[in-house]
Amino acid sequence: MSTTEPAPPAAAPRSAAPVLGDMPPEEFRRHAHAAVDWMADYLAGVERHPVLSRVQPGDVAALIPPSPPSQGEDFAGVLADVERVVMPGITHWNHPGFFAYFAITGSGPGIIGEMMAAALNVNGMLWRSSPSVTEVEERALDWLRQMLGLPEVFRGTIQDTASISTLVAIATAREAARVGVREMGMSGRDLPRMRVYASEQVHSSIDKACITLGLGMEGLRKIPVDAEFRMDAAALDAAIEEDRAAGMLPFCVVATVGTTSTSSIDPVAAIADVCARRKVWLHVDAAYGGSAAAVPELRWILDGAERADSVVTNPHKWLFTPIDISVLYLRDPELCRRAFSLVPDYLATPEGASVTNLMDYGPALGKRFRALKLWFVLRYFGAEGVAARIREHVRLARELAGWIDAEPFWERMAPTPLSLVVFRHRPAGMGEEETDAHNERIMAAVNESGRIFISHTRLHGRIALRLAIGNLRTQEPHVRAAWDLLRKTGDELLRVRSPTFGRESIP
Ligand code: PLP
Repeated sequence: MSTTEPAPPAAAPRSAAPVLGDMPPEEFRRHAHAAVDWMADYLAGVERHPVLSRVQPGDVAALIPPSPPSQGEDFAGVLADVERVVMPGITHWNHPGFFAYFAITGSGPGIIGEMMAAALNVNGMLWRSSPSVTEVEERALDWLRQMLGLPEVFRGTIQDTASISTLVAIATAREAARVGVREMGMSGRDLPRMRVYASEQVHSSIDKACITLGLGMEGLRKIPVDAEFRMDAAALDAAIEEDRAAGMLPFCVVATVGTTSTSSIDPVAAIADVCARRKVWLHVDAAYGGSAAAVPELRWILDGAERADSVVTNPHKWLFTPIDISVLYLRDPELCRRAFSLVPDYLATPEGASVTNLMDYGPALGKRFRALKLWFVLRYFGAEGVAARIREHVRLARELAGWIDAEPFWERMAPTPLSLVVFRHRPAGMGEEETDAHNERIMAAVNESGRIFISHTRLHGRIALRLAIGNLRTQEPHVRAAWDLLRKTGDELLRVRSPTFGRESIP
């Protein structure tokens, strides 16, 4: 579709528009029912769509008039435009063949929670600005804490994303270091370089937090990993000592449970030992992996996190709650309050310190009622239902890992502790550069097929394919079909290159 095509004419103005005020209740009911019917049909038939959107840049915008309608439009036409304008540009994260990044799904109860939160449209910045926002959040996060096996001392707060949770955690760690940044800032003063430590496999959100907090990218020191992509705790200890000797101020370590590239799990207990000895803050990034601790036999992944100062996990990643919702657990929420609380006159309330005011625990004032969807999800599935679903995803990933291990000329490039499988096709006699290009071609071809969507990473400089399982609709036949497609595509691409290449040594 060309981006120069003229935009379609605007829909006809609606006939019985109210002069002022909102959409009348009966009209709302009619359209909302239609929207819910559409959602139910969409979710039931999501497999009909290509997983990865096929639009070209600008295609969607070209379907939207450049100026807003001067008169209100008939809402049935607006809803119809979801099919015409929006759907072609949707990459279907709900599709059971979605295996890219970290595969996530919302769920029925989560979607209903999101809709109801929108209807209530409350701002839970203060306890009194809507007490249920605070109290449902406190209860739901305490339920989740119990499900993950974190100790009672931890108190949760909801942020939008793990990036912001980690930013809040590092800002709180800086407050705990008592260097007066809140009052004096970081520049134009006598302050040693402050340093955060994380493994070479850490998510880019940690770098971004350091940029945002004025620590700079040099304020983050990356620690080497072992053969299984886990942080080397001894190297961490040595790095902190070296930096201290150089006059720097080490103040925070970020350990990852479920790294983005490979889902490796840092040795949190050994890292907690280092942090205790060196008196630095320990933040655990369990944005994706954390949910797996709800499975009793996987609870070990958070071993050592009970000694952390803060832990982030994202229900919007592997806990079936629609994006966005991230949970930051803090051992001492008062430190976070000290870092962020600022109460102008108009926000002072008579409840004082007897209540929690959510605005005190991060940079944002306004607070969406995100806890409602999480509460619905936890109640609908129950702790055992959540565990059973995550357990199945891990089982499917291990099945796939086994098929890859058993297949000549395919290899896993990292262990599979959770539900992410990292691998490549390695035809006989193919050099490293060419193997990279070959795997990129495989990825492009399978993604173009519309049947699956996978992503990639680089390990030791080489391209690795990532297939992540985390979608409620993904079942074993989907994973089997994905594997068949990958193998077939790998072989076909080789045949195009040369009819025998890569198979010479197959008996
Ligand atoms: N941490 C890890 C380990 C991640 O994998 C990701 C995203 O995939 C993030 C943090 C950032 O998550 P968010 O998109 O919620 O900021």
